[in-house]
Amino acid sequence: MFNCDDIKIQREHCSNISNVLIIEGSALLRDNIKKSINDILEINCDAASTEKETMELLQKNRYDLIITDLHLSDSSGNLISYLVHEKNRIIIITDSDNEENREKLISLQIVDYLYKMDEKSIINYLINSIIRLQANANATVIICDDSRTSRLMIKQEVVSQNLAYIELEDGQQAYECIVNKNLKIDLLITDVIMPNMDGIDLIRHIRHRYNTSELPILALSGSNKHSLVAQLLKTGANDYVDKPIKNEEFLTRMNILLDHSRLFKQNKKLIKELQTTATTDFLTKLYNRNYFYSTIKVIQAQAKRHNQPYGIVMGDIDFFKKVNDNYGHEVGDIALKSVATIIKKSARESDIACRWGGEEFLILVPDTNIEELINFSQRIRKIIENTPIIVGDSGLRFNLTTSFGVALSNKENCEYVEEIIDEADQKLYKAKASGRNCVVFN
Ligand code: GH3
Ligand code: MG
Ligand code: MG
Repeated sequence: MFNCDDIKIQREHCSNISNVLIIEGSALLRDNIKKSINDILEINCDAASTEKETMELLQKNRYDLIITDLHLSDSSGNLISYLVHEKNRIIIITDSDNEENREKLISLQIVDYLYKMDEKSIINYLINSIIRLQANANATVIICDDSRTSRLMIKQEVVSQNLAYIELEDGQQAYECIVNKNLKIDLLITDVIMPNMDGIDLIRHIRHRYNTSELPILALSGSNKHSLVAQLLKTGANDYVDKPIKNEEFLTRMNILLDHSRLFKQNKKLIKELQTTATTDFLTKLYNRNYFYSTIKVIQAQAKRHNQPYGIVMGDIDFFKKVNDNYGHEVGDIALKSVATIIKKSARESDIACRWGGEEFLILVPDTNIEELINFSQRIRKIIENTPIIVGDSGLRFNLTTSFGVALSNKENCEYVEEIIDEADQKLYKAKASGRNCVVFN
């Protein structure tokens, strides 16, 4: 009986790419490849121009990747088979277009086989390949096929690309791992005709959960029924290869999917970072005004539709200028962060705590009433009053107080948030005028 918890991720061949060897007869190309790898990727790259130099370097060092020309001035004809035998990761570059030779080399467990194009194209291709190999060290592929021979072939290709893999025998197993167990997978390679659950059904189920960018799928179509390819793609496979697979085509298609998926993930992360930067205050990590105005519409609509008043709490640190004057601006910043942390910790998940200006804070409290608002503000005020600001291990510690003005929306004004902010502001002013360290609500 298949149990998802028993599956093993095979990652014994994965490694970081941090040491590269370029073996190339042409001094210009060799030096430029070496320089680009050093400069662009900041990876160590050694260089050899002959087999003799190569053997000397290999005796001293272990390389995570070897990029090698096929024809060197002292070629014995055995270098590639030696490198493969010693389990090196190899990219071959050649200017020969001997088909037979190429087929033979590509069937070995090598990373890639590359025709010599113009220098810029070769370097771009190699840099991309290294970036991919580095990223692949943290990526996992599911190989799902009921044929052992087919799995074996794919395994060899996947391992050559520095990928970890999970080997499964039918769609039901893949479904368990991906959909039920939520395993983090970077690519699914699936056969179509399999027992228990076939490839089409598997793809269909996965697409209910993950889109084509989140989890790319490469289908292996064994049938020569032309309509099957269209059906696979329409169901949600990103691409397909015919069985029996041709190594080079398989690798190229797999790599394109991995590159797209990596880019998608990078973009998603970047967008998230941008959103955070655009909506939070750099110093205190509270929300900024921008975020307040982007969410207030929803709170106003709730207030109106469900008669749920919202509150605005305006807080301002008392005599903050003195903190800067007495201890310096840096200590002032530490104090600001400390007060912001108290505010954030005291607020509910649904409250929106913002840094409104220099040492002024605004908290938007949805669905509340005046008693709740006053209690909430008093609680924060007391915690701030009783929590000393501790300046690192300098021994300096001091206490601060804050003043608060509180206003609640009603049916008439809930759509005019500026009015409510104004009201809270006036009450804050009153709090300052009446001696500070207090909450004013009327
Ligand atoms: P009050 O009790 O009336 O609010 O007095 P106050 O001194 O707190 O108010 P005032 O408006 O006179 O001074 C506010 C000070 O806050 C002046 C300004 O330099 C300081 N401030 C504003 N933003 C920052 C900041 O990001 N870091 C630091 N360290 N100080 C800031
Ligand atoms: Mg099958
Ligand atoms: Mg102040």
